[in-house]
Amino acid sequence: MHDAHHWKHPLPAAPKPETTQSEVNFSVQKYQDNSLAEFQENAEGRPHEECGVFGIYAPGVEVARRAFFGIFALQHRGQESAGIAVTDGTDIQLHRAMGLVTQVFDEDILANLPGHISVAHTRYSTTGSSKACNAQPILTQSSEGLMALAHNGNLVNAVLLRAEMEEAGIQFETTMDTEIIAKTIESLNDRPLEDALLETMARIHGAYSLVMMTHDTLIAMRDPNGVRPLCLGRLSNSEDGEAAGYVVASETCALNVVGAEYVREIEPGEIVFINNEKIESVFYKGLVEHREDRPALCIFEFIYLARPDSQIMGRNIHQARRTMGEKLAQQDPVEADVVIGVPDSGTPAAIGYAAGSGIPYQEGLIKNRYIQRTFIQPDQTQRELGVRLKLTPLRDVLEGKRVVVVEDSIVRGTTTKRIVQMIRDAGATEVHLRISSPPYKWPCFYGIDTAARKDLIAYQRSIEEIRQYNGADSLAYISMDNLINAVGQPKNLFCRACFDGEYPITIPHDVKFTKLVLGEDGNGNGNGSAPVSPDDPGPESSDVVVQEDAVPTPVTV
Ligand code: SF4
Repeated sequence: MHDAHHWKHPLPAAPKPETTQSEVNFSVQKYQDNSLAEFQENAEGRPHEECGVFGIYAPGVEVARRAFFGIFALQHRGQESAGIAVTDGTDIQLHRAMGLVTQVFDEDILANLPGHISVAHTRYSTTGSSKACNAQPILTQSSEGLMALAHNGNLVNAVLLRAEMEEAGIQFETTMDTEIIAKTIESLNDRPLEDALLETMARIHGAYSLVMMTHDTLIAMRDPNGVRPLCLGRLSNSEDGEAAGYVVASETCALNVVGAEYVREIEPGEIVFINNEKIESVFYKGLVEHREDRPALCIFEFIYLARPDSQIMGRNIHQARRTMGEKLAQQDPVEADVVIGVPDSGTPAAIGYAAGSGIPYQEGLIKNRYIQRTFIQPDQTQRELGVRLKLTPLRDVLEGKRVVVVEDSIVRGTTTKRIVQMIRDAGATEVHLRISSPPYKWPCFYGIDTAARKDLIAYQRSIEEIRQYNGADSLAYISMDNLINAVGQPKNLFCRACFDGEYPITIPHDVKFTKLVLGEDGNGNGNGSAPVSPDDPGPESSDVVVQEDAVPTPVTV
């Protein structure tokens, strides 16, 4: 079923625990609920990333502090809750709460999280509603004792697995699919941990980049399709350059900030174990019935999700986005006076469009960088004016000009429509929209929170109809071929399902798979609508039918 290879590096021994206690204890250091406000920066405009994960094995280092900076660098991947678990070889201590990383942690809290291994998480909920009990890391039992676990991604067979487990008498405390992974591991705790994790991989289908730890080992595990990114970094000893520890993280931007150098990506289907004896990888080679047997990294990481200073597959994200803009300029030129981007994610493609077209680039929209998450509820009028809270047009740049505005994607279209109007109101004579992704036609089931299919503006609408809706003078999207060229890797290495409907992991047909499907409140947060089966135009109301007792029929879509 699997093979393992060893690549051992000398690692410093873990410090001896002060107690000789043989049993690993669990203590929740502190638990807060800051009653999160639902108002978000991109209330309806873009897909939301769901989570960032970080793990560190580094004896002699303040791992909680490094973990804090790790998830601080990954804050763009989720702003609802944050958590850090640490172990000193005996206890696992955990602090997690709703809010931004800087709101959840302070010096005192970090000082009370001693240890040499840590896993950390920052969350945007996709499965499971936005509640303190759904913050991560979460804890479970394994053959090695207590484990902490943090997850980025979404399982597509969560409903079925949970129903089966509940029928078997297993109780759940949260509404997250992550708890299904945790309970699966726990149910296999009569096996060696490596076997239990490989068996867990055989049972769970979907997207998962996981960081986990026992009292002595840091573990990283990536799904067999590698949908969500996960990379390995190395901390060096400043005196002799020997490895002082290892780091795993969703993106390389989190390695830089803790002083780790990039080693490589965790491979699809790989499980890495790091402790004071070894760094060892095991690869899942089992047959997974419901997935195509190919890597399928989310291409939207390159377009919008990942931070521009990260690199994935050896490609710097900023450079990839800039190249998308250059190719878009060659593909769909227009006569204009100025190119502007919709900050921040549209900016690199706008710079590329300017370079490719010879039209000067200028900042035409200013973003309020401090509005990303507020705990003060806006009133209804402010909600309607949401885009104005975060973007302000620069009249001096726009007035009397033919403007090319470059955006990374259009999901529902409402934000883009407001932006076009805002640019016209600032005096632009023409507004030409250029989009650095193909039309977004299909919902994501692998961890990105998008609208229901019926709410995706490109679903059943022509580009001309979308242009009319947005009120732009012209509209063009980058072609899939040009997008792939800009990313610089073969097309079949990526999930592109939201653009072409080719889902690399089969979606159970009967399951209305939403982030609320296991939830209780029925309202959710963020953009409110939830993705449903890809061939279903979506629920007519916000009520989502929970079909926990339905037996999903796998379909190939
Ligand atoms: S469907 Fe789109 S957003 Fe979701 S994983 Fe695939 S490429 Fe990424």
